[in-house]
Amino acid sequence: MTASLPTRSTVAQAWQRAAQRALAADLPHQLRQRGASVLVPSLSTEGAAHRVQLVAGQVGGCDCEAGLHGRPCKHRAAVAIRPFARQAGVRVTQVKSPAAVQRFVVGA
Ligand SMILES: [Zn+2]
Repeated sequence: MTASLPTRSTVAQAWQRAAQRALAADLPHQLRQRGASVLVPSLSTEGAAHRVQLVAGQVGGCDCEAGLHGRPCKHRAAVAIRPFARQAGVRVTQVKSPAAVQRFVVGA
C-alpha cells in the first residue's frame, strides 16, 4: 500500500474542477490574447475579463481572487486547455487527468 499525498491530490482535484468549469462555460474558445497575457471572460461579471499572464509559453498568474491567492482557477485552466487541445488534435470536452492541464501551468 502506498502513502497518500493529500495536499497534491487536493490541488489536482481543484485543477480538474477548474478545467471542467472552464469547459462548461466554453471559456477556452473565448480567449483574447493581449501581448504577454490572455484575457478570459469573467463568469461572475458581465463584460469583465480576467488577465492571465503568459510566461515563456506557460500559463502564469491570474488576477482573479483565486489566482491572486495562488489557487487553481478556471481562467488559467481555460488558457492551459488550449495547448492541450492543440496537442491532442481534438475538441476537448472533458479533462480526465488534471495533469494534462497542470503541466502547462507554472507552479501548478
Ligand atoms: Zn483566474
